[in-house]
Amino acid sequence: MPRGEELYSGKAKSVFLTEDPARLVLEFRDDTSAFDGQKVDQLDRKGMINNRFNAFIMEHLEAQGVATHFDALLSDNESRVKRLDMIPAECVVRNVATGSLCRRLGVEEGLDLVPPTFEFFLKNDELHDPMINEYHIASFGWASSAEVESMKAQTFRVNEILSKLFADGGMILVDFKLEFGRFDGELLLGDEFTPDGCRLWDADTRKKLDKDRFRQGLGGVVEAYEEVALRLGVDLEATIAG
Ligand code: ADP
Ligand code: UDP
Repeated sequence: MPRGEELYSGKAKSVFLTEDPARLVLEFRDDTSAFDGQKVDQLDRKGMINNRFNAFIMEHLEAQGVATHFDALLSDNESRVKRLDMIPAECVVRNVATGSLCRRLGVEEGLDLVPPTFEFFLKNDELHDPMINEYHIASFGWASSAEVESMKAQTFRVNEILSKLFADGGMILVDFKLEFGRFDGELLLGDEFTPDGCRLWDADTRKKLDKDRFRQGLGGVVEAYEEVALRLGVDLEATIAG
């Protein structure tokens, strides 16, 4: 299925129409950005690694009963997905305190969060993705209360499944962000799950293996993403049927 007109070009991915109105092509580019696009760079191979990594994670989640938008890998940098009506609330689960949680609440970096905590953020770059709560989502009609409950339940379920997957690869899933959307009346996990949208630490050394390497100028960004993929057994060279 060839890709058609570009629908949207985001900070790291481009979205294309296809001949099927219910399907899109996501192109994972080498572009990387942080701090609402203030820090940008091009990282050779990042798009390919993220595309294949995302396919692996989405298929793993599907196999565990989480409904996602993912259809198929189309090429090194492209995947076909179901076209969703995206909900503008980002869902974040945290197992360990770091990042904006520590800046906001002054809690100690590295504190284990038992039980894990959950936050909603409004997807809006101009407003710097402010934190919102369920009352904002209801008052502004961004999602129904059933959708809010489903997003929370699914995000916690993803946390259970992926915390185990990464632990088996010697990593701690520190936190992550998910986006959901509607498809034929059903709520599906959309967007991506890659080291661009989560934090992963080596379980022994606590070495950062995610986008914080880019945010904090630590270097070795693509090398870390590749290491994560290899630890999970993602085949970065598998032939793609298309
Ligand atoms: P951003 O918009 O934050 O710059 P990206 O560069 O990753 O992010 O762009 C991808 C865009 O595609 C995001 O806005 C995301 O919400 C949207 N998107 C992801 N999956 C789907 C889908 N299945 N259907 C429609 N839109 C999607
Ligand atoms: N995150 C993301 N996109 C965003 C904001 C956050 O993917 O627009 C991810 C981020 O990679 C981390 C988690 O969500 O895994 C929590 O991020 P946090 O709120 O700590 O934000 P930051 O410290 O990056 O500003």
